Amino acid sequence: MSSAVEANGTRYLTPSARTAVVCVDGCDPAYIEDALRRGLTPRLAEMAASGTHVTARSQLPSFTNPNNLSIVTGAPPVVHGLPGNHYLGEDGREVQLDDPAFLRAPSIHARMAAAGVPVLAVTSKDKLRRLLAAGGVPCVSVEHAAQLPIAGLARAADAVDRPPPGIYDWDASHYALELGLALAARLDTALLYVSLTDCVQHAEPPGSPLSDRFLVRLDELVGDYLDAGWRLGLVADHGMNRKTASDGAPNVRYLTDELQRAGVRDAHVVLPITDPYVAHHAALGSACWVHVGSDGRDRAREAIGSLPGVEEVLTREQAARHLELPADRIGDLVVLADAHTVLGRSAAVHDISSLHGPLRSHGGRHEQAVPLLLSERVAVPAGGCSNADVHRLLLGCRAAPSSSW
Ligand SMILES: [Zn+2]
Repeated sequence: MSSAVEANGTRYLTPSARTAVVCVDGCDPAYIEDALRRGLTPRLAEMAASGTHVTARSQLPSFTNPNNLSIVTGAPPVVHGLPGNHYLGEDGREVQLDDPAFLRAPSIHARMAAAGVPVLAVTSKDKLRRLLAAGGVPCVSVEHAAQLPIAGLARAADAVDRPPPGIYDWDASHYALELGLALAARLDTALLYVSLTDCVQHAEPPGSPLSDRFLVRLDELVGDYLDAGWRLGLVADHGMNRKTASDGAPNVRYLTDELQRAGVRDAHVVLPITDPYVAHHAALGSACWVHVGSDGRDRAREAIGSLPGVEEVLTREQAARHLELPADRIGDLVVLADAHTVLGRSAAVHDISSLHGPLRSHGGRHEQAVPLLLSERVAVPAGGCSNADVHRLLLGCRAAPSSSW
């Protein structure tokens, strides 16, 4: 086993003790700060006191898959190739970015595995499983734990003494942590990644009974990992904000409708938050792509930019450069909305009635702040850090990153 492994321009030290990074999906810093203030999470408090606790930033757009991939590759979307869950193919059809063939960079875990380090990934939602498994990383999901074999077991779920909860259950995330701990013991895992789901955070703000229940159980499981000798890093893929108007209704700008009103008829709006799990956000987030021919582009930019709640309309080139996105997988325009606004296509295609409660979502700059909690005390760079730095900070690295990320 070598003592350092290169991945995407950084040489990561191989783990000297069992090391786990957990992506607490949709964990706005406010959830942790509120829990710490009320003494709800003593083991997180212990990590904050004796380890490291800072606010970091997510990648933009602040969606789940781009950020999970940035966490495991240590690099921004321009390097790993996934700016969202969908992009518009050359034939004009939307392509779901869930196939590992779309990845343009190896994960740190894949590089560690190739160097002989036992690695494991566990995800709550199955949509991430094949992406995290790329490069030979053993990976299971809570969603399919009753079917997936691993570690000599016919079903991953056999490692845990309770059946897997449903993907919309409050404790689907906790089951991922339970699976991670049980399977890691069987596989003698040295580097573990566990990705949770943001079902609770989409449903409830900090301080609500459901959120408290989620955090108390998360804290117990963090204690289980710490007591078993794991070095632990907790980070989030994005924050979360209420996206409702003063009357409680979803605060949506329907861009296809608005563009038609402005006389732009050949535009195609892509919502990169769209995935199979729409019950908690109805495919409404605070960032989207607009594909529009050069003739209508200025008019589209002006029409969208004048809408209340729209903060930025970037050209493809601006977005690729400033947000570090792959230019061929975003739109001619990239639109970012404010803290309490989401972007949709047309009122007719979004099933708002599918929402379980008041709309809470993410995707823009206002959900970019994420907590970073490490069991180890490390020096955080003066300019701050992003969630893509969590393995650099927890494992240690030998070379400075090759660019600003
Ligand atoms: Zn997420």
